[in-house]
Amino acid sequence: MSGTSEGPAPAADLVGPAVTESHAHPPAGMSAPAPPVGVHQLAPPASPPLPFSPGPAQSVAAGAAFAVAPLAMAVVDREGLVATANETLGSLLGTGADGLVGKVAADLVDLSSDARIAHAYHEVLHGRQARLRCTRRLKHPDGHSLWVHVTVTPLPTAEQPVLLSVADISSHRELQSRLRHLQMHDPMTRLPNRTLFFERLSAALEAEAYEESGTGRIGLCYLDLDGFKAVNDTLGHRVGDRLLAAVAERLKRCADEAGRARPTTPLVARLGGDEFALLVEDSTGTDQLAELAESVLSALQTPFDLSGQRLSVSASIGVVERHAAGTTATGLMQAADTTLYWAKADGKARWTLFDPERNAHRMTRQALSSGLRPAIERGEFALEYQPLVGLEDGRVRGVEALVRWHHPQFGTLTPNRFIGLAEEDGSIVQLGRWVLATACRQARRWQLERPSEPPIFVSVNVAVRQVWDSDLVADVAQTLAETELAPHLLQLELTESAVMGSAGRPLQVLQALSDMGVRIAIDDFGTGYSNLAYLSRLPVSALKLDGSFVRGFQYEGTNAHPNPADEVVVEAMIQLAHRLGLTVTAECVETSAQASRLRRIGCDTGQGWLYSRPVPPDRISALVDAEACRPT
Ligand code: C2E
Ligand code: MG
Ligand code: MG
Repeated sequence: MSGTSEGPAPAADLVGPAVTESHAHPPAGMSAPAPPVGVHQLAPPASPPLPFSPGPAQSVAAGAAFAVAPLAMAVVDREGLVATANETLGSLLGTGADGLVGKVAADLVDLSSDARIAHAYHEVLHGRQARLRCTRRLKHPDGHSLWVHVTVTPLPTAEQPVLLSVADISSHRELQSRLRHLQMHDPMTRLPNRTLFFERLSAALEAEAYEESGTGRIGLCYLDLDGFKAVNDTLGHRVGDRLLAAVAERLKRCADEAGRARPTTPLVARLGGDEFALLVEDSTGTDQLAELAESVLSALQTPFDLSGQRLSVSASIGVVERHAAGTTATGLMQAADTTLYWAKADGKARWTLFDPERNAHRMTRQALSSGLRPAIERGEFALEYQPLVGLEDGRVRGVEALVRWHHPQFGTLTPNRFIGLAEEDGSIVQLGRWVLATACRQARRWQLERPSEPPIFVSVNVAVRQVWDSDLVADVAQTLAETELAPHLLQLELTESAVMGSAGRPLQVLQALSDMGVRIAIDDFGTGYSNLAYLSRLPVSALKLDGSFVRGFQYEGTNAHPNPADEVVVEAMIQLAHRLGLTVTAECVETSAQASRLRRIGCDTGQGWLYSRPVPPDRISALVDAEACRPT
């Protein structure tokens, strides 16, 4: 209880550090240090007034001064018994001066209950320490308690008694605690404020983590009113303030109710604005927290009557419950904040429990997103290539470049994990440039390695944002110039949605690229509008049929018959594409049955696991070399 204003403290509580001064003044018999050189030597200070001075006249005067001094004092002999005490001390302790003579001084002012203080007192009594000062809380015989400052100083006499002086600091303490209360409470709702909440939370975490008596767990309901801003904006701040005070009142009631059957009552605090927290120390588990959150939601359901205004509000609550050991106040609050955000996002007027998996996903997304740009600079990305194979002759015509992120923490990540994030934050432009340059350089290398073979083209995926936010035409032109790759050996893959409805910029970009001799392919064709007539008006030269079409052919190994409709649709699509001058590649060809059906209906190339998974560039070299040795 030391240092808090909450609840009564036991009479013998030590408040603040016990101040024990060992060297402030040399004890009797010890020599004072020499004054610093060059300092004017003052006359030795007058001796303090002593109750027992040598001369009889002085002795009488000193004794009288001692008796009437406004500071409460007693002379204590070396045995620790009161030799004499003045009236001020007598009345302070409620016994009268005479009643104190012969009493054990340490008991009167509580110098024995604390081992540190008892030891220091003993040292002063025996002349081994210069002074003891400490603050004690005493109980007056009439029942009230008082705070005192106790000082014990040796007296320079032959018997070496000590002077005990006691200053009443109760009113000072009272003022201090009132000030503290003001500092620690919110004036509007009278609830503990953010400062006190964090003080209590930190103390609770420490206690729960190290004391074996409790449950070792802690729980928190972090609450935010839904649409409070609208109340403030439409009805004014005064109504808003009254609503907050009324909400605080209901929260207090919920906490009191929850605390009725348990050893501790949850602490309700206002963290600021319309945010409140209910802290459950010694929590017994998520059920307890869920029950509390539920009771808060239902308590807020009854409309508020604010001087004639009827107001309905709801709240969202983030609930976190966990082991105190290893939990920090910041960690707990972050989790609560995230959970509250989920409660809001999931539709408000509800409580949501912290979910480590959902959080890990969020953290991973965040970590990936913030790590993208530096990862490009650190060279953590690599390209794999997957062959596009002629269905008629089984030869590799080209390869698709597929990016991978060798993440130092999460391992190798496929593009589905980060391309979306890179598009969101714009880093796709930088990453896309790197992919383009790397793929073109590689394609040129393969070509130079096999000058007598027909060269293979490289197909590079392009995100919509690259078309809008960067000068794709200039980037491509520069890359082709630098790598000396012929434009017709580069194919750019864009999705249908990226090019559909494209008037203006995307169309100009496609036209410029096509004019340069670069091939444009529509990726994942069939998942979007599938408007071939429209596509034919764009400078597109290839379609990549989405994997879902080929999957419709998958009947091998089962007794089921192929769905003829699928085949008819795909066949018609291929024929139409050919009439429009487009070549067709089928994605996700996994079986030879699929390959032969695709060949039969006229598809030009296939890409899929049947031929090869995406592989590093040297494996493509090996594949092409093996093919070159194969008799045709
Ligand atoms: P996509 O362009 O449609 O690429 C084909 C995806 O299908 C690849 O996934 C590939 O590994 C996978 N795949 C290939 N054959 C088969 C098969 O037989 N069966 C099945 N089930 N899947 C197969 P990956 O590498 O995970 O790439 C996913 C998507 O990420 C790509 O789809 C593409 O849209 C995007 N992407 C990849 N690299 C880049 C890039 O450099 N830039 C941009 N903007 N997007 C990229
Ligand atoms: Mg692709
Ligand atoms: Mg695709």
